[in-house]
Order: sequence, then structure tokens, then C-alpha cells
Amino acid sequence: MFGKDHHTDDSFNIRTMLTFCMLAFICGCNTPGAPESIMTPAVKMPEWLYRVESEHLNKSMTDEEKMRFVISLALENVDRGTGGPFGAAIFEIATGKLVAAGVNSVVPANQSWAHAEMTAFARAQMLRQSFALKGCMLVTSCEPCAMCFGATPWSGVEQMLYGAPGDFAREIGFDEGDKVSDWHSALEKRGIKVTGPMLPDEAKVPFTLYHQKTGKIY
Ligand SMILES: [Zn+2]
Repeated sequence: MFGKDHHTDDSFNIRTMLTFCMLAFICGCNTPGAPESIMTPAVKMPEWLYRVESEHLNKSMTDEEKMRFVISLALENVDRGTGGPFGAAIFEIATGKLVAAGVNSVVPANQSWAHAEMTAFARAQMLRQSFALKGCMLVTSCEPCAMCFGATPWSGVEQMLYGAPGDFAREIGFDEGDKVSDWHSALEKRGIKVTGPMLPDEAKVPFTLYHQKTGKIY
């Protein structure tokens, strides 16, 4: 009798365990806040950006070409209605080649962190499988806001090139946050060379277009 009961208990335990595993799997897939979902969700860039990025991946660019490239990303983002008037990209310093591109995706992604610089950092780090973008530069169509300024040293980039001064963004209502007044020096003290404003007249065009389209300010 003991043997039979023991066998029955084992079957019961196995069935219970299987049921528990299935429930855990189902809940894990669907419940917000499950262990695999506690970080930010996957934020996809607009489809057109992947195409533009792949078309430019192995081309060396001068600094002006890099700047015009990120300004064109900002313009296209506004034109297509896929986000705010900001574009950014990561380039290898030694070769001038594009590593990854990003655009502002705050509204479509419902993620306050999804500024162009941040999405460019995230995409480059994912593609390189490294949290430190050594030997790389950030090129951004606008002076970084307080968040992106703060995130730059931790991204690992060694240089920053920016287009429009932050005032252009403020003039149409964007909140750029508070950062130290001599923010160039603050980054340079950390070994990050900063250059800008560069091509500010061209870098202003995405803001003008965005304002005309009365885009959402965030
Ligand atoms: Zn920002």
C-alpha cells in the first residue's frame, strides 16, 4: 500500500509541477512587470530609418556630411510624422563611418527617454554588443538637453558634434532642462571633445518645419 500511495503522490506532484510551470510561463509572457519585462520595452525606430542607416553604413563622412546626415534624419522624422525634430548618429572617429542612427521617438514609443541621442546610443550599443562606445563620436542635430548631456559620458563616446544651439528648440517650446552653463568644459574634463554649433542655419530647418506642422511639444 505504501508503494502505491507513494507512486500516486509522485504522479500528483509531477502534474502539479507541470501545471505550475505552464501557469508561470503564461503569466510571464503576459503580465506587465514580469521579471523579463522590468526594463524599458523594445523601442523600434521608424522603418525608413533602418533603410537610410543601412544605405550609409560603410561610407566615410566628413564632419559636415555627418551633420547634414543627422539634420536630414530630423527633417525626415518631422516630414513623415514619426517623431520630433531631432536626429542623431554614432560614427567611428578613426574611419568616419556610420555605426548607428537614431531619431526622437518619444511620442510614438510613449517613452520620455527616447530622444534622438538616446536612441542612437542604444542602437549603437546593441549593434556593437557593448555599453561603452569607445572610439566613437555622437553627432546630433541639436545641442543635447539635460538628459542627453548627462547620458553622454556613460555612453562611452569620445567626441560630440552638435548642430543647432538649444535655443532653437526652446524657441518653439521644447524644455531642454537645466545643465551647467559651461557644459562644453564639463564634458571636456571627462575627455569628451565637443564641437558646435555647426551649420546652425541648416540645423534650424527641422524646427521651423515642426513648428509649421504644430507638432506636439514634450
Ligand atoms: Zn535629449
